[in-house]
Amino acid sequence: MTEMSNSAQAVYILLGPPGAGKGTQARMLEVRFGLVQLSTGDLLRAAVANKTEAGLKAESIMKAGDLVPDEIVIAILQERLSQPDCGTGVILDGFPRTSGQAAALDTVLAENNQKIAAVISLVVDDSEMVTRISGRYTCANCGEGYHDTFKRPKQAGICDVCGSTEMSRRADDNPTTVKQRLEAYHAQTAPLISYYQDKGVLRSVDAMGKIEEIGENLAQIVGDIQSEIR
Ligand code: AMP
Repeated sequence: MTEMSNSAQAVYILLGPPGAGKGTQARMLEVRFGLVQLSTGDLLRAAVANKTEAGLKAESIMKAGDLVPDEIVIAILQERLSQPDCGTGVILDGFPRTSGQAAALDTVLAENNQKIAAVISLVVDDSEMVTRISGRYTCANCGEGYHDTFKRPKQAGICDVCGSTEMSRRADDNPTTVKQRLEAYHAQTAPLISYYQDKGVLRSVDAMGKIEEIGENLAQIVGDIQSEIR
């Protein structure tokens, strides 16, 4: 295994099915606490766009809504974690997603004398997830997330953050693939909730309400832990 930055402060994990709001909330925590959001989905989409070896292997799997093999995802995450900006602390968004990935993360953290600060489970109602996912899109320039119903830009078609007018929708955000992604979540990722509960690091947040309210609840948890660490 490659080395992860020794100086990384705190490792937070956001756990939840596709559409739970992990990306949106991770971005808000990133800004508020100076943490770095690490999304394996984003890293994999970049690998696909750049046609790297990993990207070429992952592309059809992602299109089908299945999970990319552990060894590919772990390698991509470790490479990103070893970069110096991660030293201020990270929020893992979409990783780990299998027991193999959770075990690999434990090994890396133990090697670096680090612990998971908290695993925050975003609790949502599955039946709402297809609607949530079908309406979402992002700014193609800065990655800010939007939604047709829940989070529209202040001016239609213009990104609030960077002013770009280029928006994009993910290829796997369609009802058929979403169903498969939810199945993969329940079969392979949901068991991690009890894994982390047994370790005493699990926190749960109701993620069915307003984005800002959920964000406040998460910020409370992270803020308390960050002030303990300092
Ligand atoms: P996300 O952006 O987190 O919804 O991820 C999009 C897709 O990337 C998933 O449906 C998987 O195909 C793949 N993916 C992202 N993270 C992982 C992971 N930790 N393990 C396996 N596959 C992943």
